[in-house]
Amino acid sequence: MKLDSQIIQNIRADFPILEEKIYGKPLIYFDNGATTQKPLCVLEKIEYAYKHLNANIHRGVHYLSQKATEAHEEARSTIAGFLGATKREEIIFTRGTTEAINLIAFSFGEAFCQEGDEIIVSVMEHHSNIVPWQMLCERKKMQLRVVPMHENGELQIDAFRRLLNEKTKLVSVTHVSNVLGTVNPVDEMIRISHEMNVPVLIDGAQAVPHIPVNVQEMDADFYVFSGHKIYGPTGIGVLYGKEKWLNALPPYQGGGEMIEKVSFEKTTYNVLPFKFEAGTPDYIGSTALAEALRYISEIGLDNIAAYEHDLTAYATEQLSAIEGIRFIGTAAEKSAVISFLVGNIHPYDIGMLLDKLGIAVRTGHHCAQPLMDSLDIPGTVRASFSFYNTKEEIDVFVAALKRVVGMLS
Ligand code: PMP
Repeated sequence: MKLDSQIIQNIRADFPILEEKIYGKPLIYFDNGATTQKPLCVLEKIEYAYKHLNANIHRGVHYLSQKATEAHEEARSTIAGFLGATKREEIIFTRGTTEAINLIAFSFGEAFCQEGDEIIVSVMEHHSNIVPWQMLCERKKMQLRVVPMHENGELQIDAFRRLLNEKTKLVSVTHVSNVLGTVNPVDEMIRISHEMNVPVLIDGAQAVPHIPVNVQEMDADFYVFSGHKIYGPTGIGVLYGKEKWLNALPPYQGGGEMIEKVSFEKTTYNVLPFKFEAGTPDYIGSTALAEALRYISEIGLDNIAAYEHDLTAYATEQLSAIEGIRFIGTAAEKSAVISFLVGNIHPYDIGMLLDKLGIAVRTGHHCAQPLMDSLDIPGTVRASFSFYNTKEEIDVFVAALKRVVGMLS
């Protein structure tokens, strides 16, 4: 199904915030890489859950507790289906991508890493896929190795091959760069890593809202994402892990839910997925996230990918007319992200003035300071799109940018 302008108008009507006026101007929201807006069905799900099925889950004998448990566990099954996981037990709820990566960096580090071992990340990682590994490296006296990229923002796969060696314990790379929009060849990187028996974690934060993902087809060992970037609520995220790995890892946090039996002499741990879910889980968040996934699955990720691809190509073409513009990230495979600089104008100034015209873009280092350093730039202006954005909005944005550049040049 092609998402034509009538369908997009209907979709836009599902997102109440798109009606907002910013300084009297219609909101143009191009900061979807940071977080996405929420459709009514997700907002209503949150309200419904609090109004009609709020009770702490698991082991409650009473009606409401059982209903809430059912909703939470159904959400787990929906997410397993969405990612193409073999089993629902392979889905662990976390607070987001960041917590999921910290969980693996800690638990995998405890179980499988020792002094002298190496972890591979790429130069385009978000801080949340760098710092937890640095902390592990510091704890265990290990080395972090970094896959470099070509000038256009594509990873150097030959260099990646050369970095892998018998000391490599894990590879952790982003599926889609939040700055460059590059869609990395994760299938190939996983295949190459597996030839050396090295497991791979894929940071899917910027991928799952835009392209269909199947963890079994790509053969990822771990795949993580955040609910709020995929039209769901904040504070909930997902760690997918192959059962064999999750069973082999020690718990990350201790507390209620994650235990089988506790005594002062010895505590034994619960089975998957509960072993990794200490404390009261965000059962409202999980239920609302499942609703968000149902919503976008109904539109269809293939349709979303095609529409956003057109939109990004159109924006790139229109922006190219601006004198002095320099695109940061021009990989052949790109997602709905455009990072750019204009002449010597500071990105922050562009962002500030666009804001006054009702246009929300992000400026700065985008939590990827090592990437900025490697490009020798302080930051970029980033426009990141969703299927609820339109070519008309891009026209307004490009005209506004021309005005802003004129004022600042
Ligand atoms: N990885 C990538 C590629 C991201 O874009 C982000 C968010 N900008 C994160 C990780 C961190 O996600 P969160 O803050 O939701 O944990």
